[in-house]
Amino acid sequence: MGLRAIGNGNTNSPAASNEDVRKLKFISLSRRLFRIFVVATLPLYAIPGLAYTFPVDPSAPSSLKTPPTGTGFGNAARNQMFLSDSFVGHNIAGGFYTTPSTPWINGQDVIVSDIPFVGGEVYWNSVLNTWVSNGIRYFTGNGVPNHPTGLFPIPSDQPAYPYYAALPDPAGEYPNASYLPIETYDLYMSVPQNPVYSNIPTAIGELTFAIATQTGATFHVNLASTNDANPYVDPIAGLPMDQCWGHPVHMQYHYHGYSWKCFPNQGNQIEHSPLFGIALDGFGVFGPRGDGGVLLTNEDLDVCHGHSGKIDWDGILTDMYHYHLNNEFPYGPGCFRGTQIGTFSSNGDPSVTSAVPGPAPLLGALAALRCSRRLRKRCRLQASPRE
Ligand SMILES: [Zn+2]
Repeated sequence: MGLRAIGNGNTNSPAASNEDVRKLKFISLSRRLFRIFVVATLPLYAIPGLAYTFPVDPSAPSSLKTPPTGTGFGNAARNQMFLSDSFVGHNIAGGFYTTPSTPWINGQDVIVSDIPFVGGEVYWNSVLNTWVSNGIRYFTGNGVPNHPTGLFPIPSDQPAYPYYAALPDPAGEYPNASYLPIETYDLYMSVPQNPVYSNIPTAIGELTFAIATQTGATFHVNLASTNDANPYVDPIAGLPMDQCWGHPVHMQYHYHGYSWKCFPNQGNQIEHSPLFGIALDGFGVFGPRGDGGVLLTNEDLDVCHGHSGKIDWDGILTDMYHYHLNNEFPYGPGCFRGTQIGTFSSNGDPSVTSAVPGPAPLLGALAALRCSRRLRKRCRLQASPRE
C-alpha cells in the first residue's frame, strides 16, 4: 500500500538535497514503470482463470459458530458482543439475536460451502498511512482494501441479491440494501499507542471498532437489522458477504466473520498469528493462532475475545493483552479491554473539520491543514493519496 502513497509529485520541498533529488528521480521512474506494468497486466484481469489469487489460508474453517436465538448483547460474556444501549444512536437495550433460517445455517453452524457469496472481482487503489506521535497511533486512508471485493450494488441475477433486496438501506438513501455501493472515503482513526488493560470491559458504541492494518479496510460490529419483529441477526448468518466476508454500508466496505482468509500475511502454522488489525482501544487484533500455532477457540479467550501473551508490538516482543480472530461468534473483539477508546471518522480528522466550517470542496485544504499540524512527511504522503 505504501507504494501507492509515495510519489505524489511534490518536488517543491525547500530543503531537497542531491540525495533527495536522486530519490525523487528514482520514484518518478518507478511510477512510470509501475504504470507500464499496470497497463500491461490490466487485460489479464479480464481473462477467466487468470484472476487474482488470494493467499492460501492454512486454517480454512469449513464452518463458523453463530449465536443461538436469545443471545443478548447488553453485558460482557463469552460468545457475545457487548454493545452500549445507545449503539450508534439507536436504543437496542434488551435486544437479542435471532438465528435466521438461511440455507447456509445448520443449527448454530454457518456452513461455508453453502453460502451464495457475492460474486465479482473489483480492484481498488487502497491507501493506508499510519504513524505515531505523542503516544497516539494515527491512521489515515481511503477505506478500501488492497484485495478485490465483490461487485456492489449487487446485480439482480446474483444468488446473493434477494437477501439484500429484502433489507432496508440503514441510511434510507436507497430503496433497499442491494443498491449499496462501495466508495472510497476519508478514513481517520486515532488510538492509544500503548493501551492500558482494564479489569472492567467497555461496551462497543459504534459500528467501526477496528482497522484491518493488513488491508486498509475496517471491521464492523456483528449486528445486522432486519424487517422482522426482533430485528437483530448475526450479519454472516443473515447475509451472504463477498468471498472476503466483507460488504458495504454507508458506502464503506467492512468485514464480518471469517475475513482473515484474504489478509496477505497469514503467518505460519507453528507460530502465533501476526497482527491483522488494531482495535479502537489501541490493542492489537491477531489471526486465529495462539502460541505454537494452536488454533484458538472461544474457551481459550476472555469475554472480549482476547488474552494476554507475548506478541510483536512495534517490532518488540512484548507481553500484553490482545484480541484474536477465530471462527466462533463474535469472530473478533466483542468488547474493549483498553481504558481509553480512540476515535474513528469517515470524514477525516474530526478535530480539523470541526475547526474549519465549510462544504466538501474544502477537503483538499483540510488535508493541507493536517499537514501543518502533524508530521510534514505524512502530509506529503497524504496530499495525493489516489493515483
Ligand atoms: Zn495470542
